[in-house]
Amino acid sequence: MNKRVRVRFAPSPTGPLHIGGVRTALYNYLFAKKNGGDFLLRIEDTDQGRFVPGAEQYIIDSLKWAGIMPDEGVGIGGPHAPYRQSERKEIYREYAEQLVDDGYAYYAFDTSEELEKLRKELEDAKASNTSYSSKVRGRMKNSLTLPADVVDQKLRAGEPFVIRIKMPENELVKANDLVRERIEVNTSTLDDKVLFKSDGFPTYHLANVVDDHLMEISHVIRGEEWLPSLPLHVLLYRYLGWENTMPLFAHLPLLLKPDGKGKLSKRDGDRLGFPVFPLLWKDPVSGELSSGYRESGYFPEAFINMLAMLGWNPGTEKEIFSLDDLVVHFSIEHVHKAGAKFDFEKAKWFNHQYLISRDNEELGCEFEKLLAQMGVTSNFDYVVKVVSLVKERVNFVHEMWQQASFFFVSPDSYDADVVKKRWKDNIPSLISDIKGVIRKIEPFTAEAFKDSIHHFVEEKQANMGSIMNTLRLSLVGGSFGPDLPVIAEMLGKDEVIARIEKALNSIKSE
Ligand code: GLU
Repeated sequence: MNKRVRVRFAPSPTGPLHIGGVRTALYNYLFAKKNGGDFLLRIEDTDQGRFVPGAEQYIIDSLKWAGIMPDEGVGIGGPHAPYRQSERKEIYREYAEQLVDDGYAYYAFDTSEELEKLRKELEDAKASNTSYSSKVRGRMKNSLTLPADVVDQKLRAGEPFVIRIKMPENELVKANDLVRERIEVNTSTLDDKVLFKSDGFPTYHLANVVDDHLMEISHVIRGEEWLPSLPLHVLLYRYLGWENTMPLFAHLPLLLKPDGKGKLSKRDGDRLGFPVFPLLWKDPVSGELSSGYRESGYFPEAFINMLAMLGWNPGTEKEIFSLDDLVVHFSIEHVHKAGAKFDFEKAKWFNHQYLISRDNEELGCEFEKLLAQMGVTSNFDYVVKVVSLVKERVNFVHEMWQQASFFFVSPDSYDADVVKKRWKDNIPSLISDIKGVIRKIEPFTAEAFKDSIHHFVEEKQANMGSIMNTLRLSLVGGSFGPDLPVIAEMLGKDEVIARIEKALNSIKSE
């Protein structure tokens, strides 16, 4: 019988969660939901030196905002609680000692000076492997070289020690990866990694493997940066006697810089002006702020859709997927091997797609909040109408103000380029004459406005483009915005006339 699908997102709280991390969480979530399984959140905080206050809450808030809620884990609980590794500290030592007892690991008492000396020596000798490995362990201070009674005595005296894996020599470790297929590594290229530290905490490797086993994880889906750790993990499963229940592995492609040269980093975001974090983050030490997708006006649905497509494709041309659609279509087989280039224009495009498909009433509610901030109050039906007219022109709700402020407040300035190009010769006097025509329009509808202006232009043998553009300049302040007769109808006759007068008084002809 197949094992129940159980996957986990296991971030370390060392800072704000990068969007690559959110993508890892998302793929885990999709895989779990697709297979009717469980999605866990485990916090891997065994490296006390790298702990950053607020980072764990940031991770939880980010997942919540993105709508990828764990079924079990930190902040939720579950049958395998606690899910924070620092609270599971006591569990790991037993397994580290078991490995020592079974001859797969050993105690090492080398001081940091001795380790430094070793590193220098190996570097000077231009050794291919400069770390603590099978090649050098025989001349270091550990339970393989010291007599048993000395080792016992050191342990009893509470001397600092670490537990290292005893990496076999010249053995081929084979592993299957669901994305990368077959992986083979010769153990002679690997070092004797520390499994258990002198501060009483396990390292990532031991804690990760022990917890994945105890939490009955069926599939480990994580970033490609962990692929080099896979042979060690496979050996740990074997040495702990868990090979038969070892999870399947899938290592996800890296998220790359827009030019494809290297991993997408915080610095790229700062340099190119886009967020690399889901939510705004304030560094607890420096106070430095890093922008987030939420605060930049992204809809969580658009953010998730964009992330899903970075490293996976549905096998069709379809690009717009709700979270539920993604659950239906997601499969590890369609995860790419090659890194995914981040494309900020595409991120905005996704937001635009979600924005235009949103209900005008819903957008109206959001835009109303923005209007309130600008000190504008207006009739809700009017706001909804405005939203329907401008939503095609924006990527974000906050861009609507720029596109639509003239529906609420008369322009205070006029686009200098348009003034220079249009506001000359007999145009001001024609515009002044138009006021009389507009006054007579009854009822004041877009259609009637359009007909009257046409009629006027014909009668005066004026240039239609010039008249329409200058009228637009008077009503809007620039050369943008929806259909002019529609704007006129929305503003109403008195306001249109008032704005034309205001323009005539404020704009100086060239
Ligand atoms: N704690 C690791 C990280 O920060 C987890 C890696 C894994 O999923 O095994 O990414």
